[in-house]
Amino acid sequence: MVTVDEIVNLIPSPEKTDIELIKKAYIFAQESHKSHSRFSGEPYFTHLAETAKILASYGMGSTTIAAGLLHDTLEDVEIGPEKLEKEFGGEILFLIEGVTKLGKLRYHGTDRHNESLRKLFVAMSEDIRVLMIKLADRLHNMRTLSYIPEEKQKRIATETLEIYAPIAYRLGIRKLSRELEDLAFPFVFPEEWKKLQELTKQKYEEDSENLEKFLKSIKKVLAKENIPFVRTEYRVKGLYSLYKKIQTKKKHPEEVHDILAARILVKEIQDCYRVLGMIHATWRPLPGRIKDYIAFPKPNGYQALHTTVFTGDGNIVEVQIKTEEMYRDSEFGIASHIAYKAGKSGKKIPENLEWIEHLMPKHAIDHSAVQGKGKYEDVPGWIRELVEHHTQEKDHETFREDLRKDFFEHRIFVFSPMGDVVDLPAESTPVDFAYSIHSAIGNHMSGAKVNGKLVSLDTKLHNGDIVEITTKSSAKPSTKWIEYAKTTMAKRHIRSAIQKSKRSQ
Ligand code: MN
Repeated sequence: MVTVDEIVNLIPSPEKTDIELIKKAYIFAQESHKSHSRFSGEPYFTHLAETAKILASYGMGSTTIAAGLLHDTLEDVEIGPEKLEKEFGGEILFLIEGVTKLGKLRYHGTDRHNESLRKLFVAMSEDIRVLMIKLADRLHNMRTLSYIPEEKQKRIATETLEIYAPIAYRLGIRKLSRELEDLAFPFVFPEEWKKLQELTKQKYEEDSENLEKFLKSIKKVLAKENIPFVRTEYRVKGLYSLYKKIQTKKKHPEEVHDILAARILVKEIQDCYRVLGMIHATWRPLPGRIKDYIAFPKPNGYQALHTTVFTGDGNIVEVQIKTEEMYRDSEFGIASHIAYKAGKSGKKIPENLEWIEHLMPKHAIDHSAVQGKGKYEDVPGWIRELVEHHTQEKDHETFREDLRKDFFEHRIFVFSPMGDVVDLPAESTPVDFAYSIHSAIGNHMSGAKVNGKLVSLDTKLHNGDIVEITTKSSAKPSTKWIEYAKTTMAKRHIRSAIQKSKRSQ
């Protein structure tokens, strides 16, 4: 079981209040879930402690870590929000409620609206910390997916591949997105996974041996040339990422040269170019494979020098050269440093990350300015600095408004009581909702509840509403419903049902 110390030790310089808060949440959560266990048979609390540990390892602050420990209390043990607020305050309650709300969102499997669902997911998070807790929660659930009943595994894994991993990727947390993908892969494409794993297993073993040797000779040359380096290592390409590459580029795994890659980390940018020069002087590069992502970063902000060389013993190896900063950024988030430098040199910040700004904590207290800690002390620097750079000129509220318009101007997203998402045109009513579920439900609708309250059938639905339709076998559509309906599909069904019933009379 993960201990309080293990969690706290991951925080760079925790203050006494941080440790106390985490300890309090740890004990509270352990107590609240003591009669629950996981499918694995372990106490339920292991899930919460692991989630908190993941959050700490990704640089989140004590408030988020505490909320991570408590994230299932509202849903699973029915501790009231009042109690949570009294014990832990409004900010932590807000985060837990956010996570609970996201938990109600359910992926359909046949959904052709994956992009909408991802956007909705992000917009509904409202706060980057909610999203981080949800991602950490999912990561631990994926690590223990083999214990879950089989019929649920595939749905959860597909949802992870379609929704969670891409969100982590866009946040720039490649480490997390890669782990999510590789955990989901065998459940979603079992055959392909098995084939690829067998195919690469031997290659991995052979290659890693060769690569160790190659790295040794690189180190020798670096030492001889007096080039300072931080460390060398090799990285193994994620199996799912390899699968995608083979799919999209229609290649055989043998033709993919970066399954294993050598990585050289240096201190300064100029050292990257020196190392590249030295490598090309020693080993012959493969033409057309030299990439300067430092001068020309990838659209997602990734920076490094890549080259592929013949090692001289019949092997071909990709070599990645980057600074430690670039490495950290690429694993843990499109970083602060890129944003900072970009501002100075006038280089563009990756545009596809603008949405992060909308997610900055609204509830974070600004007392930090007094303490000199910066505005959002609970989110790690790599998110904070990027955003602060970006929000200097523009007003926060305007951003949020733009985002909302973007997502929601013409469509609304409402939910069934089971959490299924239905997207409808704006100004839709329960009539549209009922027919979008099934024409039989529409045709026998006797009433509707929105967010638990009985409403009239012409009530306009709003984003996030939970809509429940009651049916009776004797109920029939009325001509009035045609006016209430916004979708042509509902109107058509109503008309034909009315005609049918007239005919039968
Ligand atoms: Mn959970």
